[in-house]
Amino acid sequence: MATESWFLKSKYNLVLVVMIQFLSVVGLAQQPRVVPGEYLVKFKKQTNSVNVIGKISGKASLKAAFPDMNMFHFSVKEDQQSTVTELQNDPDVEFVEPNYIMDKISEQTPGEVMEVLSESDVTAQSSTYYTQSYANVKVEQAWGIMSAVGAASKTVVAIIDTGLDKTHRVFNNTGAMWVNSREIPNNNLDDDMNGYIDDVSGWNFITNSANFADDEGHGTHVGGIVVGASLDIFSSSLDQSRIQVMPLKFLDANGSGSTSNAIKAMYYAVNMGAKVINCSWGGPSYSKSLLDAISYAYDHQALVISAAGNNSKNNDASDMYPANYDVPGNLSVAATTDADGLASFSNYGGQRVHLASPGVYIYSTLPGGYYGSMSGTSMAAPFVAGMAALAMREAPNLTGYQVKQLAMATAQTFGNLSGKVLSAARINAYNLIANAKSNVSTLASQPSYSPKYQDDRGVASAGSSSGGGAGCGLVSTALTQIPRGGSPGASAGAVIFLISLPVLLWWALRQRKPKNQRRHDRFMMDTDIRIKVGDRELVAHMNTISMGGASFNADAALDKGGEVSMKIKGPDGQEIEIAGRIVWNEQNKAYGVQFSNAKEGVLSSIQDWTSKLVKSAS
Ligand code: CA
Repeated sequence: MATESWFLKSKYNLVLVVMIQFLSVVGLAQQPRVVPGEYLVKFKKQTNSVNVIGKISGKASLKAAFPDMNMFHFSVKEDQQSTVTELQNDPDVEFVEPNYIMDKISEQTPGEVMEVLSESDVTAQSSTYYTQSYANVKVEQAWGIMSAVGAASKTVVAIIDTGLDKTHRVFNNTGAMWVNSREIPNNNLDDDMNGYIDDVSGWNFITNSANFADDEGHGTHVGGIVVGASLDIFSSSLDQSRIQVMPLKFLDANGSGSTSNAIKAMYYAVNMGAKVINCSWGGPSYSKSLLDAISYAYDHQALVISAAGNNSKNNDASDMYPANYDVPGNLSVAATTDADGLASFSNYGGQRVHLASPGVYIYSTLPGGYYGSMSGTSMAAPFVAGMAALAMREAPNLTGYQVKQLAMATAQTFGNLSGKVLSAARINAYNLIANAKSNVSTLASQPSYSPKYQDDRGVASAGSSSGGGAGCGLVSTALTQIPRGGSPGASAGAVIFLISLPVLLWWALRQRKPKNQRRHDRFMMDTDIRIKVGDRELVAHMNTISMGGASFNADAALDKGGEVSMKIKGPDGQEIEIAGRIVWNEQNKAYGVQFSNAKEGVLSSIQDWTSKLVKSAS
């Protein structure tokens, strides 16, 4: 059977990929992987397109143009390498970089066959397998309060991955496939004139065709997790989906793809209306053009969800992209076990990784009508993508950035995630949807952002393939870091046991805090502020603001009761100065300030800002 041969093939591919990755870890890891002879070039804004074509034509073959970004994708033959140097030295050129290769981010234990179940196996199980059900993420409770099918429009989630089996019952019978209504199927014309012929429900950027069938399995699994955020995909009678998926294939049968195709997929997703874009892939190479593409998504208020990676590494100190791009609308996700501990393979980072989500032995859809389990931050990210899509469906005004803030603020904190992810928390589906519903009338808002590129790190040498690949981390997985046999939850369970006492104490202390002291709604405002304490001036990071006060984190010990003066810049760019007194302080140098004697004009500025900010969960 075709499906069985797909499965066997994927097993052998897996063994092959693991072997290749092992070899790369042993010997070749320091070289960035690139598509030979291919580059991305960005021209400075003022360069007109005629000049640009003139600079490239005759020297290199143009493969794609991104006119909105002044960016071009081209290839050169081996004897034309001087073209790359010429472009690098051209004052009209912003940057030239190699076309890096990136990989899917999922794991199986080496030698272990993931469990594969048929439709009848699954539906006979009466829903015991459904996505993320083993963790206490409160999916069913979220379903209990979400708007009915038809009462709100479906949010579109782009799945930039290995493709998708659209014939699987989960996508085929639930209305979960995105439909490009301006494109007439199979008429061999580009009806909507977007540059893609017959792109009715997605696109394959490798073959440049409308056939995005999944020849690897990863994308179908990720897609099932996204749809599974809005319905029980294992039920014998499937509900209608509240989410639509837009499959954009750029990873091949081995789970690898080029940066240029990832960028094309990102632009396609944004231009065709996706509000959430899932990236369960990545690599150690810093690409300015991919950063530009994610900024483009941010400019269009979309939310990008990026898997943090499976190398057990600290992303604050190592390279992992797109997860590490500091675009405010990029949300990096770590993976947790069924015991809500960080998965042993998961990357982490108290600054650069934002939120945790279940990612060990996650059951979802596989090509050919099958279901099966996979592990990885690849599986953690799409659950956040799906829940974010549901939140946007409840509060369609919100920007992707606001939904990111809401997802972090409503997540459930765990002591063992403190310092591992910025929010110290694992997603809580019910809290997220409930809070989205209370932010229905919140206006769209997000901070301004323009990409600041990291310093050039030897593009020329990478281009001539003689360089040392400076700053390059290991490629994908290291074998010893993957949980072996048994239950990966066991070791995490032991950790939970050891830390449970301090957590309980912390909870008890929290409970003692007087309640209902707050008279004003608090709103999330993620911005740096300047604080004056006596004759000291320091920079702090503000978390929330209300008409009565603010909370912030400062890297300094401040006394409770102390007087401070704060300078705060609002979303409208206006800066206010306001005095206050520190009324509480918590672990991690978090402080609460009560405003004292605020002037009328200052308060009206705050009121104006809060109409555009997301209400804080607690
Ligand atoms: Ca088209």
